[in-house]
Formats: sequence, C-alpha cells, structure tokens
Amino acid sequence: MQNLTHYLGGARVEGGSDRYADVMNPATGEVQARVPLATAAELDAAVASAAEAQIGWGATNPQRRARVMMKFGALINEHMDELAELVSREHGKTIPDARGDVQRGLEVVEVCMGAPHMLKGEFTNDGGPGIDLYSMRQPLGVVAGITPFNFPAMIPLWKMAPALVSGNAMILKPSERCPSTSLRLAELLTEAGLPDGVLQVVNGDKEVVDAILDNETVAAVGFVGSTPIAQYIYGRAATNGKRAQCFGGAKNHMIIMPDADLDKAADALVGAGYGAAGERCMAISVAVPVGEKTADALIERLVPRIEKLKVGPYTAGDDVDYGPVITKQAETRIRGLIDKGVEEGAELLIDGRDFRLQGYENGYFIGPSLFDRVTPDMEIYKEEIFGPVLSQVRAESYEDALKLTMDNPYGNGTAIYTADGDTARDFANRVNVGMVGINFPIPVPLSYHSFGGWKKSAFGDLNQYGPDAFKFYTKTKTVTARWFSGIKDGGEFHFKQMD
Ligand code: NAD
Repeated sequence: MQNLTHYLGGARVEGGSDRYADVMNPATGEVQARVPLATAAELDAAVASAAEAQIGWGATNPQRRARVMMKFGALINEHMDELAELVSREHGKTIPDARGDVQRGLEVVEVCMGAPHMLKGEFTNDGGPGIDLYSMRQPLGVVAGITPFNFPAMIPLWKMAPALVSGNAMILKPSERCPSTSLRLAELLTEAGLPDGVLQVVNGDKEVVDAILDNETVAAVGFVGSTPIAQYIYGRAATNGKRAQCFGGAKNHMIIMPDADLDKAADALVGAGYGAAGERCMAISVAVPVGEKTADALIERLVPRIEKLKVGPYTAGDDVDYGPVITKQAETRIRGLIDKGVEEGAELLIDGRDFRLQGYENGYFIGPSLFDRVTPDMEIYKEEIFGPVLSQVRAESYEDALKLTMDNPYGNGTAIYTADGDTARDFANRVNVGMVGINFPIPVPLSYHSFGGWKKSAFGDLNQYGPDAFKFYTKTKTVTARWFSGIKDGGEFHFKQMD
C-alpha cells in the first residue's frame, strides 16, 4: 500500500497528523493507498510559506510566468499516459475518458500561456487637463482551490493555471478520494520552473477546508463540488471577507423535439447519461421528449443502445464504456435511489441493480438503468443521482419542457435536440441555465470561453477559466495621475556651446 503525502515547498512531504483517509481502488474495493489529512496548524504553516513565496512570484513579469505555463503544458503532454493512468486508478474512469480529463485541463493551461494579454490594464489619456488614468490587475496573494473527485486532473488545472499565472500562490486541496494526480501535477510545475512554495498541495478533509476558510491570509477560494458544500463554503468564505466562487451540483435536462434526429439524440443521451458512470456535473440525467410519439420512438432507440453498454474496470481495455462509481457509499446510495424510483411508480425499463462482474465482485459497479414516466415530485427527479441512471420525463409541449427545465433548482447545463433554428434560438435565449447545447449534449465551453452554472449550481460571481478567471484571480487598482505643466518650458533644450 502506498503512503501519499502533501506537496510543500517544492517537494513531497509526509503528513504530520496521525489522521489518514483510505484511497480505494473502486474496481476491486481494495485500499490502494492512504492519504494524510492535514491539521489546521499544518494548513496555516503551508499558507505562511506560500505567502512568502508569492512575493517574488507576483513580482516576476507576466511573460516569464507564462513561460512556466508553456513548459508545464509541454510536460503534461509528455506525461499524458502516466497522468491518465493516475486518474483512472483512483477514479475508475476508462483511459480514453481519463485522457479527456487531462486534455480539458491542459487546454486551460494553453490559454494561460497568453496570460500577459489578459492581465493588461486599461489606460485613459487626458481624462482631464494633464490627467491620465490607468488600471492595473494585481494578484490577490494566496488563494485556495478545493476540488471534487470526479475530474482529478481537469478541475485542479482549471484552478491552478489561471491563479498561478496571474501571480498568486495557491493552496490546492484536492479530493481525498483522488489526490495522486494533483501531487504529480505539482511536481511537473516544479519541473516547469514554478518557484518552490508557490503551489502547495495540502491533502485533507473538512478540518483543512475549514482552516482554509478561516485563515486570514487566504484571499480567495475557488470551490467545485456538491451544492450543499458549495453553499456552505461560499457563506463561510464571504463572512470572512474572502472572494469566493463555488460551483455545485446539477440535474441537466435534454429536450428532444419531435423534429429532432432521434438516432443522433439517442446516441448523445447514452454518452452523456452513462459516460464516466454518470459522475459528471455536465451529465444529462433527464431526457425530456416532447409528445408521446417522440417519447416512444426515443425509448425504442435508447433501449438497444443502453443494453449494449460495456461496464468494467479501466484495465479491461478501450472498449469498456464506463467503470465503477467512486465509493461503496455512492453505490449504496444510487441503488437506494433506483429502489425509491420503482416504489414511487416510475417505469424501470432497464435495471442495472443486478449487474455483477466476475472477478470484481467487491468493486462498485452498477449497470445502466433507464426510467420512463418519471414525474417531478419523485425522489429520482429531485436528487442529483450522480450515477448511471437516466430518467425520461414526458412533456406535452415545448413550453412544458422549457418550464420543467427552468423550474428545476439546478442550472448547470442543458441541451436541446431539434431541426428548427427558431426553436433552438428561443430555447437558448429564454432558459435560465448557464451552459446550453444545441444538438450538442455536454456543452462544456472551450477554454477561452468560461464555465459556470446558474441557480443552485453556482454561488458567487464570475465563471471558471477563460477571461473571467483572470478577473477572479486579480484585483484592480486604478491610478489617477496629474503632472503639472511648466517644467519642460523652463528647461534647456539646445546644446550648450563648450567654453
Ligand atoms: P463534495 O462536495 O463531496 O467534495 C468536494 C470537496 O469538498 C472535496 O475536496 C471534499 O474534501 C470537500 N468537502 C466535502 N465535504 C466537506 C465538508 N463537509 N466541509 C468542507 N469540505 C468538504 O463533492 P464530490 O463528491 O467530490 O464531487 C461531486 C459533486 O461535485 C457533484 O455534486 C457534482 O455535480 C459536483 N461537480 C460540480 C462541477 C461544476 O463545475 N459545477 C464540476 C464537477 C463536479
């Protein structure tokens, strides 16, 4: 069994507390490593040395900081296979999916290579007689990133790259279930030239998160995880005067119009519903076909596709569609929600509860499940299941489907499948959800746009990555300068003749 560490001052450092968490192999149910859980005192010490390291880093010119990102990007590419393996080993997702996890993080690093352009200030010449105004974007100091288990590479990279290139030091607190990728990324940053102490990976649980929220030096907190924790962190960070952006859970709806290409919609639903065992905040968990005929035709296409899905460990090769869920508790919870859906009268067309994989009986595998005739009062509709379960809610009209999506408390992502541009435009304009796909199932914006949900899917303002990230990780200082006239008139501007 491997003993994991923190990453402090540019090196792996053993934990000083006697508290550890088990890091499981979700495919076998075995403990594969243990990760130290830091105390508040360890966190405070990590912040203090980050604050010292930040002074030099913040004063380093932006182009040099961007060069560290260039080297970092090259190293991520060089170590792509190793990083994907680290992701899969602790998370359980397939290797192609894990490569996607690293890749979507790398794309944010690539945007950060152009950070000097994003960090430029503003200038007004002659705002008044002899008066110029200029604004500077300055780093916040020490900031923190607190990240979830489901994207062990992508989300830490979304946090660290813009924060660091903007001149901040960062405390990164990755999920205690998948900490290894963050530790490796920190090593690669050191190799890329990041000064020691500028990125501190502090592993832990609630104790260290609370210490981050209460530490007076930490100026900003970027969180990604479940909604109740996002709301808690936002509240406590704001009370303590910190800048905070906290991204939460989701219940993403896909509307399927009668004129949609139903084969394409079914393909999209299967990928977006069951990929990564449904453990994506942008997973589609609710299909909303408009009209009974559309609903029946969609089911006809979904069932054979879902029945063909191959579930297994990432080590079984590239034809595995998805792997186990993250923990035994998650498995038990998801099975319980499927039971509840049956009890409440939804039609369970495909039942994943009996799925067993020979040789992996202790792994956290659940077969794909498909519910039809789900209604908004049911628990399976209200809860974010975060598992391989797709619910179909039948809508009578486009307006009903839109209202259902808008009444849902979450607002992370949504999609519409239609052949009609006018319907698509209307949907995009009216829906109260942060990221919208048109004939596109998982509309995670590219890295030079930005990512963020609405309603209970995000607390605080400004999105993750893209131009918003540079605003979040810097503060604006505006200078109004006046230079009095007359000095140059009194000066001498001709060569004096030598005596
Ligand atoms: P989680 O909320 O359990 O944990 C996230 C982080 O918070 C972890 O680092 C964890 O250690 C910490 N944490 C957990 N409980 C805490 C507590 N009581 N006090 C303080 N800190 C605590 O989330 P998870 O299970 O790791 O991730 C899955 C969730 O994340 C899902 O709800 C998913 O939708 C959401 N998610 C959202 C986005 C987004 O951008 N909106 C992206 C990915 C995942």
